[in-house]
Amino acid sequence: MSTARPVVALTFDDGPDPLCTPRLLDILQKHNAKATFFMVGQAAARYPDIVEKVAVGGHAIGNHSWDHPSFPLLTSRERLAQIRACEEVLAPYGQPILRPPYADQNLWSRLDALRLGYQVIMYSVAAVDWLDHDEEWMKGRIMSRIRNGSIVLLHDSLFRYGEDRYADRAPMLRAVDLLLGELSGRFSFVTVPELLREGRPLRKKWFKKCTPDFLNGLKGPYGAGWRYPI
Ligand SMILES: [Zn+2]
Repeated sequence: MSTARPVVALTFDDGPDPLCTPRLLDILQKHNAKATFFMVGQAAARYPDIVEKVAVGGHAIGNHSWDHPSFPLLTSRERLAQIRACEEVLAPYGQPILRPPYADQNLWSRLDALRLGYQVIMYSVAAVDWLDHDEEWMKGRIMSRIRNGSIVLLHDSLFRYGEDRYADRAPMLRAVDLLLGELSGRFSFVTVPELLREGRPLRKKWFKKCTPDFLNGLKGPYGAGWRYPI
């Protein structure tokens, strides 16, 4: 996004998580910041009380699929089922905004999202919190890139990850606390729907996909020996 006013949207993907998400909500509240949570349907179905807590806190909730497949590797029918299944468990709190898993998309996945009334939301700043960077590294990376209208990608859970140590959310939580401490005077931290009302979306060609080999090398808590179903 490009906005005249100094507003920024923090976005947290792959949750909700029973340990991380409540701690994150406390940190956001402490700094009077609102954020957007792109939730995975499977996790939301497991923790409906946390979904509700996020919504009651004034944050926005968006769709991040049912179980985090790479959309370009699915059929259109499978993609629509993924979005609808997630939508069902996020109701009545979910908003018509979608972030595709792995930020993978092609023209057809984009059209499927539009068909179901969703606006696809990518990001302009990635915290790279899916590896084992410490809080100072992540804070520095975000601070050097943040602009009016930035959409920042973070994760309150990792649905799939390369190494077990990457799943630790403590450095991310410390990074967000430090970041908000330093930037709350300079920027207002708002939800994605609020940001969309403030300015102009920056559109760029963003069609990418992960390879099945890469995806099959990842692991996560939702089923051991998980393999990409193709
Ligand atoms: Zn994700």
